[in-house]
Amino acid sequence: MKTPSRSADSEDSEGVVCQISGEPRAGRARSATRQSFTSDGAARVRSPTRQSLRQRDSISVKMGAFSNIAGDGEDEANMKIHPAVFEATSSVVGDLYNKGISLSYERAAEILTKYQKACSLASGAFPGARDGKVILRQTQQLLLREGFTPENTLFAQSCCSDEINHGEQDITTLFGNYMGEAFMLGGLAGVPFTGKTGFGAFAAHIPDDGHLFILFAPHVGISESLHIGKFTRAGQVYEGHACGAAIGALNYCIEGKPVPDNASLGANPHDYQMSWIISQIAQVVDEIVALDTENERQAELTRQMYKISKAFLDKMVDVKITDLHGNAVKICLLGGIQINMPRPMPGFFQPLLFQILEYGKPTKDVLEEAFFSSSIDAPAFSAMRESIY
Ligand SMILES: [Zn+2]
Repeated sequence: MKTPSRSADSEDSEGVVCQISGEPRAGRARSATRQSFTSDGAARVRSPTRQSLRQRDSISVKMGAFSNIAGDGEDEANMKIHPAVFEATSSVVGDLYNKGISLSYERAAEILTKYQKACSLASGAFPGARDGKVILRQTQQLLLREGFTPENTLFAQSCCSDEINHGEQDITTLFGNYMGEAFMLGGLAGVPFTGKTGFGAFAAHIPDDGHLFILFAPHVGISESLHIGKFTRAGQVYEGHACGAAIGALNYCIEGKPVPDNASLGANPHDYQMSWIISQIAQVVDEIVALDTENERQAELTRQMYKISKAFLDKMVDVKITDLHGNAVKICLLGGIQINMPRPMPGFFQPLLFQILEYGKPTKDVLEEAFFSSSIDAPAFSAMRESIY
């Protein structure tokens, strides 16, 4: 039986409350107006009075205008405003209002448009990407059906050490909060550098009659200026790289520097992770640099890092493991790409692999069922498979 799946667009359709101070112009109230925005782009005014109903009509017309500019000529489906865009806009506008800063309607529209464009860029470059809360909910349904509960499941993650991957709305934290403690398998760029020894230690901690769940993902930033591979960090005015390790390795290879071999990895114990990433990127650098735009190259670099991490994981995961009583253990793998969206947007995640491994049984592939089972997700599923496989 298929588990019903909800698309990202259906997430949290309740909308969020946003306060926008009125502008000093004819026909509009100067005082603060309490509104809630719904996911279909319309604004809703609570406890409608005659005045507020007039405002609502005016706002609805303007929100329609937002939708039209938000997609920049993209198709109608992409112009639908994501609930996370409303939440981020509400947060920014609310913070300014609380500081006593009056914001024009047009400025609020610019903020909303910026986040919507970031959202469109994420779903265009990484089809099927959605925010972490949706991923967690869709994953939970399937894990529970397959017998994985927070009580009997040990969680591990292999995600980049970069702090921007571990905020409270990032998938790493959301899964950690749901599952409990997390075993950290990852190092730079999310590669599971703890290796076979790390996996062995993780596996030795399985609860009795329990299972393992592994989340693995490289990451990539999307900056406020809509550059893939960049990110505006807290306290910094310029845009830095994300993932810095992957981009550093790519730049090293583009410059034609000598590629580290196995012997030199051993001779470089204090930076062996970076040397190994360089050695892997060197094998695909031509594919990456052949692409036309920097955004395309950065998206492809991230997909290559996913493949590199997956290949590493395949070599270290042992499906024959048992618990201390000799009982077979199920291993669930959830792999994809973490997307660091402009703050305060939540982190997004593009699911690329969702499998349940059990020794002696065929691998159960539940990716489509969990995340792409509705008809509106079908184009994203096709585009995702085309881009990565
Ligand atoms: Zn990184």
